Amino acid sequence: MRGIKLTDLRLQYQEIGEEIEKVIRRVLEEGEFILGRELERFEEELAEFCGVEYAVGVASGTDALVIALLALGIGKGDAVITSPFTFIATAEAIIRVGAKPVFADICFQDLTLDPKEIEQCLSTGKENFRAILPVHLYGQMANMERIREIADRYRLKVIEDAAQAIGGEIKTRAGVIKVGTISDVGCLSFFPSKNLGGCGDGGAIITNSKEIAEKAKVLRNHGGRNGRYLFHGLNSRLDNLQAGVLRVKLKYLNSWLKMRQRNARYYNELLKGIPNLLLPSVERGGVFNYYTIRIKGNRRERVEKMLKKEGVESAVYYPVCLHLQEVYRELGYKQGDFPVAEQAQKEVLSLPMYPELRKEEIEKIADLVKRALKES
Ligand SMILES: *Cc1c(COP(=O)(O)O)cnc(C)c1O
Repeated sequence: MRGIKLTDLRLQYQEIGEEIEKVIRRVLEEGEFILGRELERFEEELAEFCGVEYAVGVASGTDALVIALLALGIGKGDAVITSPFTFIATAEAIIRVGAKPVFADICFQDLTLDPKEIEQCLSTGKENFRAILPVHLYGQMANMERIREIADRYRLKVIEDAAQAIGGEIKTRAGVIKVGTISDVGCLSFFPSKNLGGCGDGGAIITNSKEIAEKAKVLRNHGGRNGRYLFHGLNSRLDNLQAGVLRVKLKYLNSWLKMRQRNARYYNELLKGIPNLLLPSVERGGVFNYYTIRIKGNRRERVEKMLKKEGVESAVYYPVCLHLQEVYRELGYKQGDFPVAEQAQKEVLSLPMYPELRKEEIEKIADLVKRALKES
């Protein structure tokens, strides 16, 4: 058996390469690359897939967050509550618009923003809080129902960082709803390794608000229309080549998400009941951009080494919490501020996860994990 990568995009290309090449050729022949029909069609299809009224394609997931914040009028003097255990882009976007990220600790169970900690933050009343920015980490659903309730009580906006969670389903008392529909704006990334990945960078915002969608469309195109500029904008469009590729892949996304969930269930089945090992929930509508286990008792390195020796990739997302990053020293946090996040940073390990991952491969990986944890 050859090595197993964390995510292997070559297999997807083997499956749908011809269709991808066909659409690229078509866009090239049409000679329309920026803000054209291909993008409009993708935006319609994406909105439909996500169950929202509007989707606006932008140049990256990071820009989607920036544009969402700008569209909501969040900037200098404002504060936004978010997770300290996420990809840097989440906090970077808040800083980029001139606002201040305020971190709140995460839940032990799913490593997403803890509503109780959000309330704790808000009750201090020290900042001009304007929004909550939960992250569906690894494709696991944050507690959106509680977060929306808190936001409404404090009259805050909610922006979902759904870069890892397109197509995820959130269980609420009123039934199952889709990612990006209970917040004011959802932000998606089409970075190649995300669940819907382009052949390069890309992102989108999704929303039910016509006003936000229209403002986002203006913002992504320098803040103006027909030579008249209303806002300080960006150059951040999703180009038609990416839109064409994403349109092809969107048709397969539901089946790919199901394959990810099936793989996660199989991992869980094989790995259950092992001491010092915590497994992600497969019951909560997650879409497994990563399959991330937690290894207790300082044994993570042992597992990493064993996997590496046998040609299996693994990765630590994320090795350093945001509140402990050098770049955010100015925010004044210190070690010990967010114990759950700091514990997670020491324990998480993401194992290979992609739709085409084979049963035998999952079995091999699970065996290696077990073997590494047995040796003492
Ligand atoms: C990937 C990612 C982003 C940023 O997306 P890009 O398209 O790479 O800019 C933001 N937040 C999270 C949680 C991500 O995983």
